[in-house]
Amino acid sequence: MIQLIRGFKDVLPGEVELWQMIEKTAASLFEDFGFREIRVPILEHTELFARSIGKDTDIVEKEMYTFEDSKSDLVTLRPEATASIVRAYIQHRLYAVDPVQKFYTIGPMFRRERPQKGRYRQFYQINAEVLGAESPLVDAQLIFMLVEFLRRLRVSDTSVHLNTLGCPKCRPAFQKELHRFLSKIKTQLCADCERRKVKNPLRVLDCKVLACREAVADAPAMIDHLCEECKGHFETVQKSLKKLDIQFEIDKRLVRGLDYYTRTTFEIQTGLLGAQSAVAGGGRYDRLIEELGGPVQPAIGFAIGFDRLAEIVSANNISAPEIDLFIATLGEQAKTAAFEWSCSIAVSGIKTEMDFSDKGLKGQMKKADRLGARYVLILGDKEIGEETAVLRNMTTKEQTPVPFEGIVENLKIKLKNS
Ligand code: ATP
Ligand code: MG
Repeated sequence: MIQLIRGFKDVLPGEVELWQMIEKTAASLFEDFGFREIRVPILEHTELFARSIGKDTDIVEKEMYTFEDSKSDLVTLRPEATASIVRAYIQHRLYAVDPVQKFYTIGPMFRRERPQKGRYRQFYQINAEVLGAESPLVDAQLIFMLVEFLRRLRVSDTSVHLNTLGCPKCRPAFQKELHRFLSKIKTQLCADCERRKVKNPLRVLDCKVLACREAVADAPAMIDHLCEECKGHFETVQKSLKKLDIQFEIDKRLVRGLDYYTRTTFEIQTGLLGAQSAVAGGGRYDRLIEELGGPVQPAIGFAIGFDRLAEIVSANNISAPEIDLFIATLGEQAKTAAFEWSCSIAVSGIKTEMDFSDKGLKGQMKKADRLGARYVLILGDKEIGEETAVLRNMTTKEQTPVPFEGIVENLKIKLKNS
């Protein structure tokens, strides 16, 4: 039997209702904050990700699903959505009317990581991005919206971790100092970090390996090396969060796995997930639009890990949707009549089902029960003969005759009003 690919998964009915609820909650909240949905492709030119995420990151170095299509163009299944959103902003000159554009998108991402709990090779993210805005108030508002989103989903045990990564003015000096620190470390770092030490020292701070974490405990921090502008910006972010009553922790070690981040960076962590504790991550990427060939415009955004979120959202209130009407039939004539009726009733917004296999009446009643049907319309030989079906209220068990004449209209009225 052919199984799904390792690290990929199915979201089956039963769980999918929870996913739909999360999607609806995100869309409605984000739209209240002025975000509009954007849908970008899943496949892009490899170059887009290599240039935005950075060639020396784990994602680009070893995690992307990249292949040549038949015309030998190098293409990649997107590992994240921000690059594509920025590409769309530039390509369609969305900045021309107003540089400030707010987008959200929900969809699958692909990274060839080691599959484990909370880490998949196809996973889903909810992104929100504000392009063209530099104000630290925007940073605070975005974090506020993210926290409110989790609150609406009743996710408990979350904390906001906040850091700043500076800007091209103040970061190089810090990077040099970090490099110096790392070259003096005696402890053996993991193989990845030995490589990162030279190519991308900042990423060593983000390593999940315990020995590496301990080794960088006293590493210099960006927050102590900020230029005046970055310092002022970060202070306003913090002040604004306090005004909004958002609790946060400054986490000097917090860096993100993508090169394009500048200034404010944040992560939402939870104690409910074990090792993969980050439910969402985000931050500023003030240089990315320009680097991808667009106008000089700052930006900020976040990505929520949908799969991890779904795991911690209480599924208590979610149950499979019940149906309004099940039509149980006996014999071909009854089935033909029921078929027409069920189609006409379903299109009017009443959830209607019937049985297409040749189950007996008893089996069909059982099925109706399992589907949580509120009413069952019974149509057997006797009913066909008398041209009157029987409608059974599954809660009260009360049965009422419904003549064929005008039955569809009568059922619509009855079911809509009960
Ligand atoms: P992590 O540190 O957990 O690897 P990350 O820094 O790589 O996360 P981002 O690229 O910022 O994550 O993506 C944002 C969110 O997407 C993460 O906080 C996480 O919830 C989720 N995410 C990232 N990679 C995966 C994955 N392989 N499987 C499931 N969710 C993921
Ligand atoms: Mg990662």
